[in-house]
Amino acid sequence: MTDVSRILSNDTSLRERARVVIPGGMYGHQNARSLPEGFPQFLTHGEGARIWDVDGNEYVDFLCSYGPIVLGHHDRRVDAAFRAATEGTRADCQNGPSPVMVDLAERLVEVVDHADWAMFAKNGTDATTMCVTIARATTGRRRVLVAEGAYHGAAPWCTPLPTGTTPEDRAHLDRFRYNDLESVEAAVARADGDLAAIVVSPFRHDARFDQELVDPAWAAALRRICDDTGAALVLDDVRCGFRLAFGGSWEPIGVRPDLSAWSKAIANGHPLAAVLGNDRFRDGAERIYVTGSFWFAAVPMFASLATIDALEEDDAVVHMERMGMLLRAGLAEQAASHGLTIVQSGPPQMPFLTFSADTAFERANVFTATAARHGAYLHPWHNWFLCGAHTPDDIADALVATDAGFAAVRAAFGGD
Ligand code: PMP
Repeated sequence: MTDVSRILSNDTSLRERARVVIPGGMYGHQNARSLPEGFPQFLTHGEGARIWDVDGNEYVDFLCSYGPIVLGHHDRRVDAAFRAATEGTRADCQNGPSPVMVDLAERLVEVVDHADWAMFAKNGTDATTMCVTIARATTGRRRVLVAEGAYHGAAPWCTPLPTGTTPEDRAHLDRFRYNDLESVEAAVARADGDLAAIVVSPFRHDARFDQELVDPAWAAALRRICDDTGAALVLDDVRCGFRLAFGGSWEPIGVRPDLSAWSKAIANGHPLAAVLGNDRFRDGAERIYVTGSFWFAAVPMFASLATIDALEEDDAVVHMERMGMLLRAGLAEQAASHGLTIVQSGPPQMPFLTFSADTAFERANVFTATAARHGAYLHPWHNWFLCGAHTPDDIADALVATDAGFAAVRAAFGGD
């Protein structure tokens, strides 16, 4: 006889199998342990702004694979480029680079105003680490400044969880507060002539905090400090690149970094990262040794060219902004109708929501888990992402789910 108590959902049984053969059951940001009950861990596919889990549940996707999906899942133009790049005699991973590498470098240099050259890798951490290495090679100095709480990757020099690394890995790292000039000046003084780089994200998008847009005067002051000291201004555009602007994320405020790190959205989900730089840092970039078995793979580069063309063709940034504003207006109205105080922060295309008096994110957990059960995939403590495929209908469907989420918060915690 079947033991009915052992009829597991596909997700639960995959989690059980994973615990046996994958340390911790899963690791990094794909570990669903930090998500509340009700979130699936395993997903099968996506189409446009919708995703499906292994139990067949459908969601309006507001995480977009933590950013890479910028046009939507299975964008037809990127899929066509992928198919063309994989059929016939075209190869992906070869003894030498494909001509598409030069095409893509030219396209990025054309589209991103501070860039005179491009290099490619696979992950955001590759790109931020390369920026730091190039800055040190160029300046001959050691010290690197980053904002408190900022995420720049999972390498020993920048990981937020130092287990398994040594203090020496971060011996030349110092911190400042985002948007706080005095704290930057103090860190520059502490560097005492040994400053190689200031690494900064386009806005403050730390997990578990209300997001903070950049103060353009502060960004301009960072530029001046780097000009005065000869240090590199490094923009970590891994999360925001091609979502905030068509071009570099600080182009709208007129501040040009020396180096920028890209990944996530540049190939609509295909594995690719890039470092873009200006001519002052070209020589340092030539002298460092960086490479990877898969860094020159051609297929993601074809996908990237198609992604950039499609972003331009669709004016996708403006579309994401509009859809994000629609979502934001709906959420504000719903929260008020349930008597709940919320803070919505960040740019509309990368929004985030917190509840008042919710330091342990208990309300956020109830809100997002309930919304997930009703078909909207949001995140309790990481910023969300809009994509070019979200439609007003997607937003309307998601708002049905979020209304249930607010009702559950109100029922569990009362109003405030
Ligand atoms: N920088 C930022 C701002 C990021 O958001 C991320 C990834 N979340 C990284 C760097 C690291 O990218 P990856 O996970 O691809 O190594």
